[in-house]
Amino acid sequence: MLIVLKPDVTQEEIDHIVAKIRSLNLEPYVSKGMYRTIITIIGDEDILREQPFEAIAGVESVKPILRPFKLVSRETHPDRTEVEVGNVKIGGDKIVVIAGPCAVEGEKEVIEHALMVKKAGAHIFRAGAYKPRTSPYSFQGFGEQGLKFLAKAREETGLPVVTEVIDPRDVALVEKYADMLQIGTRNMQNFNLLREVGKCQKPVLLKRGMSATVNEFLMAAEYILSQGNRNIVLCARGIRTFEDVTRNTLDAGVIPIIKDWSHLPVIGDPSHAMGLNAYVIPAALSYIAAGADGIIVEAHPSPEDAISDGQQTIDSDQLVILIQKLGRIARALDRDIY
Ligand code: PEP
Ligand code: MN
Repeated sequence: MLIVLKPDVTQEEIDHIVAKIRSLNLEPYVSKGMYRTIITIIGDEDILREQPFEAIAGVESVKPILRPFKLVSRETHPDRTEVEVGNVKIGGDKIVVIAGPCAVEGEKEVIEHALMVKKAGAHIFRAGAYKPRTSPYSFQGFGEQGLKFLAKAREETGLPVVTEVIDPRDVALVEKYADMLQIGTRNMQNFNLLREVGKCQKPVLLKRGMSATVNEFLMAAEYILSQGNRNIVLCARGIRTFEDVTRNTLDAGVIPIIKDWSHLPVIGDPSHAMGLNAYVIPAALSYIAAGADGIIVEAHPSPEDAISDGQQTIDSDQLVILIQKLGRIARALDRDIY
């Protein structure tokens, strides 16, 4: 950590800061330049992070050297992590397509939707059994029954399934049925939920909070990893900005940054980023062009009849086109599609 001192800092103030650092059993190195004095501290940055150094007289700013997310960072784990979801690997050379409706809509429906997704060439099936809705009066999902339907859809198609968990008390139940647990944008900082999925064995799809910075996003992943679960796939899904033409603002720009800072795979969700099905395909392509390891996309045989998020859901023809185009982008980047 670097402590940059004010230009008019006094020797008395420097002595006080040095004594404070030594009281934490850490060693300060004072470098006096012509205009500025800087104190470098080598040691456990976590101890330092908790200290309000900025509150001490003479201190101008404090700059960490190491990133606050340790286990998630490539500084501590330079090799890329590949996450296995059923028989599909996310994070290798091949990009992965996860597709399905926003919600589980019934037993016969979910099987039909999974067959459609498989026929179009997607690799993992998604549908929400528990839906976090803005209104308490909107459809909240089929719950445990929906999980059972999902398990049947997997039996019928052989596709692994991903579904959202919204309550720490449901983690064990969802884990029993699903191949991957999704943490939605609204729960990215539900720390009890993050810890709970961190203790489970199944891979986790962690979506970016709609107002979360990249650092907050990676710290959320750190919560999961700190409990022992290394199988995390990050998911960019658009963020809230002043723009109101799209549901959110496409955040493809964070993909290369996350790939640079973290060893975890990262995918993009063009459906929630754009909120309009006409723009889902270009948004998906831009996530992959930016280096994402895959896409999660809302798809339904008849988007106008979808129970939720129909306006941003593509149909089977669009899904086929999307997968073809994703393959071309992947190959242009010396990758391939699964
Ligand atoms: C979803 O995937 O259907 C969903 C609710 O996503 P998000 O949490 O990103 O809004
Ligand atoms: Mn949705």
